[in-house]
Amino acid sequence: MPRLSEVIAALDNLWPAERAESWDAVGTVVGEPGQEVSRVLFAVDPVQEIVDEAVKLGADLLVTHHPLYLRGTTTVAASTFKGRVVHTLIKNDIALHVAHTNADAADPGVSDALAGALDLSVVRPLVPDPSDPEGRRGLGRVCEVRHPLTVREFAARAAERLPATAQGIRVAGDPEATVRTVAVSGGSGDSLFDHVRAAGVDAFLTADLRHHPVSEFSAFSAFSANRAHSPLALLDAAHWATEWPWCELGAAQLDEISDRNGWDLRVHVSKTVTDPWTAHVASAPTSSAMGAPN
Ligand SMILES: [Zn+2]
Repeated sequence: MPRLSEVIAALDNLWPAERAESWDAVGTVVGEPGQEVSRVLFAVDPVQEIVDEAVKLGADLLVTHHPLYLRGTTTVAASTFKGRVVHTLIKNDIALHVAHTNADAADPGVSDALAGALDLSVVRPLVPDPSDPEGRRGLGRVCEVRHPLTVREFAARAAERLPATAQGIRVAGDPEATVRTVAVSGGSGDSLFDHVRAAGVDAFLTADLRHHPVSEFSAFSAFSANRAHSPLALLDAAHWATEWPWCELGAAQLDEISDRNGWDLRVHVSKTVTDPWTAHVASAPTSSAMGAPN
């Protein structure tokens, strides 16, 4: 059985901490380097529900995408909800390791996993990492669909292939427009709009899209006279659902490392939905004083 330090070294090799954004908080949050590891759980969020699942599973290491303390802390008292997470982990000898923007920028990374889940062929990073001479690392991915389809069909595919959430998939743009090329970015992607526009793709799938950025992006896209085809469509999925495929990717990568090293690790992926949105009610077509939406 490997020591935690050996497993962490392997994870750091996949997702080097120095490739994380400067504002990020990645790496080992809780853990005794000399402790043996036999069972690992991957999840998106280091929340109590997931930590309780790790305890039940008998995991020695929990690997999450989101940091526990992104902005630092002055207390891990169990009277705080994050302190309770730390206490539960330590009392049960479970380490916590975070790979966030360093996993976003990796090759393969979070957006490769998302593209894979959507059956897209990755062409290149949307925002290449200038420090990568091969141009394979970076944020987001520009992809091709294997067979052209409509925005509506692509949204239906995303709803079917990404893990189910209350939100489902929201679409901005013409549902009947044809999609041949797509940009994807796991997590909040509205900071990448300029890059999406420059990539000249037919659609962009990401999460956490808001009224004003989407409204302005859509208006600009429709206004641009130099576009030969339909304005770019935006697809907004649940943040958790866009990043969850990375858990399966990371687990498969660690499984392979375990086999190669003769470690015999048992690597699991949590299927618990930790997206904070818990219900969705579609507008009733006749309930609005304004009449049915188009
Ligand atoms: Zn995220």
